[in-house]
Amino acid sequence: MEDYDAIVVGSGFAGLFAASRLQRKGLSTLLIEKSSGPGGLCGNFELKGYEFHRACFEYPELLQRELRQSGLDYPFFEPKGFVFLHGKRINFPFKAMDIVKLAPYCFDILRLLKNIKSKKFEYLSELVEASVKNDFFKSLVYLFSLGESAPPEKVALKSIAALFDKELNYGYQKPIVPVGGNKKLIDAMVDHLQSLGVVFLFNTEKEQIINHHSHKEVITNQGSYTARYVVTSEDITVDKYPQEYGPALANSVILLAIDKQFEFPDITEALYLPRAPTSADSSDAFWMNDIYQGKMPDDHGFILSKTDLTADDHITVNIYCHAPLGVDQPDAKQTMQLCEPIYRQLEQMFPGISDAIIFKHFLSVAEYEQRLHFRPQHAPFHMLANSEKPANHDAETDIYYIGKSVYPQGENSGASMLSGITVAEAIISREANEAKATTKTTGKAMTATEEMA
Ligand SMILES: Cc1cc2nc3c(=O)[nH]c(=O)nc-3n(C[C@H](O)[C@H](O)[C@H](O)COP(=O)(O)OP(=O)(O)OC[C@H]3O[C@@H](n4cnc5c(N)ncnc54)[C@H](O)[C@@H]3O)c2cc1C
Repeated sequence: MEDYDAIVVGSGFAGLFAASRLQRKGLSTLLIEKSSGPGGLCGNFELKGYEFHRACFEYPELLQRELRQSGLDYPFFEPKGFVFLHGKRINFPFKAMDIVKLAPYCFDILRLLKNIKSKKFEYLSELVEASVKNDFFKSLVYLFSLGESAPPEKVALKSIAALFDKELNYGYQKPIVPVGGNKKLIDAMVDHLQSLGVVFLFNTEKEQIINHHSHKEVITNQGSYTARYVVTSEDITVDKYPQEYGPALANSVILLAIDKQFEFPDITEALYLPRAPTSADSSDAFWMNDIYQGKMPDDHGFILSKTDLTADDHITVNIYCHAPLGVDQPDAKQTMQLCEPIYRQLEQMFPGISDAIIFKHFLSVAEYEQRLHFRPQHAPFHMLANSEKPANHDAETDIYYIGKSVYPQGENSGASMLSGITVAEAIISREANEAKATTKTTGKAMTATEEMA
């Protein structure tokens, strides 16, 4: 049976970052992955000869910082795009004309900032209702409802703050996109880790962990391996979920290949935001409330991301749209209800695009899971304002957990990376403490023997 200091389960960002730190600190590390390739939700996949993102498309600056520290200087660039709402376009990064467009809402902006500072509010809807008078600006701020995959009443301000938190230091204020796309980045990371000594086994699924006195045995579909430490990026079990949480939405994806003749703008992403309800409306009128209640909305917010791939005759884009809660496999009528408003908006955002689409495929949550073997969602549960993510170490089994379902705060790749780093650091300091304790005991034993002599 092959023996290692540490076994890491899963080659998503959490697993890659944990393995990198452990190996660099001198612990021999085996990384096992059930899929045939690395990356988890960050990577690419192929469908009918076209290549698409799996999910993640833009990263926090933490990624570049950590890669550099590990000795890999991968190139990134700044994302560009726009938000489309009420028929208007707001670019990011801001251009002069966007500042002019937002100028009329300066009092809303000031009230919003003041109320954020007061820390009186827990949820996005409370903050917005107390601060924002203008409907256009309200719809813009409800961007976070799309980003956090929940209705504004359920979007905890704590979760939004975590993105920009100084202590967590993810660096989402400086988002980055890998040159050449996700696959190139992940392949470079795997090559680098292999050069450091990490052993990778693909198509290898962890089935069981047996705790022996001095080590752990990881039983997989390919055989058994032993190690002193086991770190897993599997979701934590339901009994360890936070005390308070909401159900998590999953994403369906519309996959498009677009003829290169079509002049697609030089952007990495574009977001469509439906109108937020005016104060007179019931909150049920907001599309995300429908989604959270398992209903198809009339209008549907979405995020379009363009892949950075170099095919001769086409480009590919993913359109992420939330599936109504519980509707993993919509029937034909529901699929039409979901896709039609999106295609209509797409034509408004990119006039002429409908005629340039050479391939389209609606990937339901169920089909995504069947093809890629993981669920297209940010976390298995939705964090509420009072909840904390579960700890990374289960003292009962002495297993370490990393990834989406555990500390730290955030449902994004930055949180997954930091969970891997946190666990690796915990193991490294445990090693150091155990080594110190052994030296002390051996030292004491030596002194006693000397006294006896
Ligand atoms: C649609 C969508 C878009 C997103 N976009 C962004 C974005 O733009 N920016 C951002 O920062 N975040 C984004 N996220 C979030 C981000 O993708 C995830 O937070 C992050 O990639 C999760 O990494 P992970 O390592 O925790 O988990 P995963 O990426 O899910 O990796 C877990 C790995 O473990 C493997 N595994 C599981 N069980 C076993 C087992 N028993 N044996 C062996 N292997 C196993 C899986 O196959 C998988 O490869 C997005 C998420 C979604 C769903």
